[in-house]
Amino acid sequence: MAKADYYETLGVSKTADEKELKSAFRKLAMKYHPDKNPGDAESEKKFKEINEAYETLKDSQKRAAYDRFGHAAFEQGGMGGGGGGGFAGGGGFSDIFEDIFGEMMGGGRGGRQRSTGGRERGADLRYNMEISLEEAFTGKTAQIRVPTSITCDVCSGSGAKPGTKPTTCGTCQGSGRVRASQGFFSVERTCPTCHGRGQIISDPCVKCHGQGRTTEERQLSVSIPAGIEDGTRIRLQGEGEAGLRGGPSGDLYMFLSVKPHQFFQREGADLYCSVPISMTTAALGGTFDVTTLDGTKSRVSVPEGTQSGKQFRLKGKGMPVLRSAQMGDLYIQIQIETPQKLTKRQRELLQEFEQISSKENNPESTGFFARMKEFFEG
Ligand SMILES: [Zn+2]
Ligand SMILES: [Zn+2]
Repeated sequence: MAKADYYETLGVSKTADEKELKSAFRKLAMKYHPDKNPGDAESEKKFKEINEAYETLKDSQKRAAYDRFGHAAFEQGGMGGGGGGGFAGGGGFSDIFEDIFGEMMGGGRGGRQRSTGGRERGADLRYNMEISLEEAFTGKTAQIRVPTSITCDVCSGSGAKPGTKPTTCGTCQGSGRVRASQGFFSVERTCPTCHGRGQIISDPCVKCHGQGRTTEERQLSVSIPAGIEDGTRIRLQGEGEAGLRGGPSGDLYMFLSVKPHQFFQREGADLYCSVPISMTTAALGGTFDVTTLDGTKSRVSVPEGTQSGKQFRLKGKGMPVLRSAQMGDLYIQIQIETPQKLTKRQRELLQEFEQISSKENNPESTGFFARMKEFFEG
């Protein structure tokens, strides 16, 4: 069965802002909360759907990905990065308590630790990169420096001094969460003793102070394929922030933008270039050379009587099509330049030319006003 649209699930429009999302989510979450519908599998399913939809839409990056790719954005290998579960590590079932009830009880949200021994998935990172059209044409290998936290090499991510071990938290018995009755609801909260880790590190690692990770700068080599388009996103799985205390790393998303080019406008794989030619070249015919993005020159022949706006196609001289051997075309658009600052002699020649011109020389301009008059005055 096809998955329901997240916006429909929450009953909001695609343009709903944060406030609308939250309010719709709260209303539905209250209605379908398992504590209010004990043993009702349908409600529980609905509740999970609402949770999932909200988890995605409240995060602007995930929402943008969803708007662009739909559910495919979060499916296995759905985003060009191979393997992995899209934005894995989204809200666990227990997060919802903090989301909707945390604030109401003034409990604060105190991090998002999982209860599995305090292991937490690292954050996804975003890296913006601007490349030139030439680079988009050839593709390139970019060296980027990413400031990120990595697993501590001294304690291997455990956070405990080598030779010691974290001990299980006595308050929550290692679950990282405690339950408390709060009137109508039985509410689960992050354990106040271990802050959700489930473990107490009495002898923290000196290098990372018990965090299990340290901040460093890493150099990454990223291959940008030829034909990449403005707005393309490349996902580098596991290259985001290291997880906490042995949790999995987040992903790194590279957002690529392509700088506008001085001469070429791009439309998909095709390029457009506006070329001014003189009035006489347009009338008499001639040739000119254009340098294309591959660095070669192409000769364009302009036939006699070429009109402004005329397009010439240079086949295969456009952009490469991503992950294929195909090439787009380059369209040369002719723009006829009217001569300015005429000398006396030039003026005389043009005036003489004008006198001996016939209607056949300028069929468009001769006919235009006559047709317009006929159209409006009958
Ligand atoms: Zn350490
Ligand atoms: Zn605890």
